[in-house]
Amino acid sequence: MNDEEGVIKYSLKYKNTGEISLKECNKIESVRSRLFALGLIGAYSNGIGYGNISLKTKTKSSFVITATQTGELEKLSSKCYSLVEKVDFKKFKTYAKGPSKPSSEAITHACIYSLNKDIKAVIHVHNEKIWDYMLKNNYLSTNDTPYGTLEMVEDIKNIYKNIDPFLHNAFVMKGHFEGVVTFGETLKDAEKTLYQIIQKMIN
Ligand SMILES: [Zn+2]
Repeated sequence: MNDEEGVIKYSLKYKNTGEISLKECNKIESVRSRLFALGLIGAYSNGIGYGNISLKTKTKSSFVITATQTGELEKLSSKCYSLVEKVDFKKFKTYAKGPSKPSSEAITHACIYSLNKDIKAVIHVHNEKIWDYMLKNNYLSTNDTPYGTLEMVEDIKNIYKNIDPFLHNAFVMKGHFEGVVTFGETLKDAEKTLYQIIQKMIN
């Protein structure tokens, strides 16, 4: 592992406000439990956690995301979530509140939401086989840029400049070992897309 998932690279303005809306947490939790069971979310032997999920709130201006350093936990309580209210791409600053700080990849999630207002869910998992399969089979891919950087954000925007995100709602992160992202109008859509890739891979 060259990069450390657990290190927050961007600047974060965070306010601890206790627990947050259970609705989004519960929805994320049901998907997360399946992905955790498959090892697509978890922790490496060095203790660094990987994988995160987010879901837009009803007001659509904010999203709930799994908290930083939660990869190794099989189940997340509502205290293990964070509410991202705004990401300022120019200042590269994330504004969040809730019982925990957001995943350090929140900025990537925010970038995907900025592509289309109807995108409401983002899933980011780690798996070497899926990552390798996508890189070798012409899936959309970011350049060799590390996660959580401005370069990654610009990469994602470039990928979807002339591509409908709903027709290609998955991409592989070339510069982020094992990193894969799917998204959609619902968490189910994002999850289904991930399983479809796995299905193709094992067939
Ligand atoms: Zn990652």
